[in-house]
Amino acid sequence: MKKDSEKQSGIYIHIPFCVRKCLYCDFLSGPANEREQARYVEALCREISMESRCYSKYRVQTIYMGGGTPSLLPGEWTERIMETVRRHYNVGGACEISMEVNPGTLTRERLSSWRRAGINRLSIGLQSAVNGELKALGRIHTLEDFLDGYRQIAEAGFENVNVDLMSAIPGQSLRSWRETLERVLSLRPRPAHISAYSLILEEGTPFYENRPQLPDEDTDREMYKITNDILSAAGYRRYEISNYALPGRECRHNIDCWRRKNYAGFGVGAASLVENARFRNISDRGAYESFFLDSVGTDTTPTAGAFGIAEQIREEKRVLSKEEQMEEFMFLGLRMREGVCAEEFERCFGVSLDQVYPGIVEDFCRKGLLQRTGRTKEWISLTDYGIDVSNVVMARFLLT
Ligand code: SF4
Repeated sequence: MKKDSEKQSGIYIHIPFCVRKCLYCDFLSGPANEREQARYVEALCREISMESRCYSKYRVQTIYMGGGTPSLLPGEWTERIMETVRRHYNVGGACEISMEVNPGTLTRERLSSWRRAGINRLSIGLQSAVNGELKALGRIHTLEDFLDGYRQIAEAGFENVNVDLMSAIPGQSLRSWRETLERVLSLRPRPAHISAYSLILEEGTPFYENRPQLPDEDTDREMYKITNDILSAAGYRRYEISNYALPGRECRHNIDCWRRKNYAGFGVGAASLVENARFRNISDRGAYESFFLDSVGTDTTPTAGAFGIAEQIREEKRVLSKEEQMEEFMFLGLRMREGVCAEEFERCFGVSLDQVYPGIVEDFCRKGLLQRTGRTKEWISLTDYGIDVSNVVMARFLLT
């Protein structure tokens, strides 16, 4: 059992602004003018400082600023957010601090601010290296904008950079997907990390309402296979179903989420997992801002419960039952290439994995979807074939 002083947490900070909405995106984000952005940042900093009383015994290991487009904020506001975090939290010296950036929003001033703010990992959304495909997605940038942004990032001294890609998008072929992967691999310096997800049509998006012509399922699967073949041959290790990294450059923040470590989410709609309580801030930006700016004074000291201090603005709040924790342990852990550790399962829940899921692992191992590995400890992971049908596998680990 860890002592209180050794508890660890990540922090997620949500910036809900974008130049304009991409046609496939259902994230909580949209355009806003500078005055609106300033009001949001003010509310966000209040939330960060107010909630810090709940985290006085935690050391922060990772910080992730996502969105939206965090790179849209004026640099000094990003610095202010990070100063607020550092002032109120115990941020570890080796903390991984990531920020999502969009081509077309990079400037020399912003890059300098991000360095001053201590940001040490950038994640840049390219999605496709084919301009026609970017246009079909409704992205605001071209390949050339990306190349220019990537060069600026390297010149500013950022060494830990992820490039986000998207497969199975309108008009894409196996040839053009290969072209995108090869274009990214030709970048110098090489990106430390590459994420490659396939497009999902999300309800409420223009693509959902007006379905575009997409590559079929077999092509989608083939694209996943090509991705693995090409990136593995180039020295990237697939450490999660859709994520590849050069050795030692895996995203620690995401790994901690898949391993169900604590993380505190700040900002509108931001989700948290703290000591097995899952909760999410309300997704109405106006209500979020007025809660922190108008209704709570900075000197009020409400008591903290399982869902932090600002419990009134939490949605989907629940303390996970043991069965829910076990389910999450399995289906989040199995996303990772190394899978789940049977010993760790027993240590966490006081009962063996085979007792909770009798015969299931054996059955999937026989069918070639799961494998047991490890010399000193037993690990259970998806095979390549298992990844193809991971939804079927994950579903068998549901208990509730
Ligand atoms: S830039 Fe990202 S968050 Fe913004 S609309 Fe596009 S996909 Fe969504």
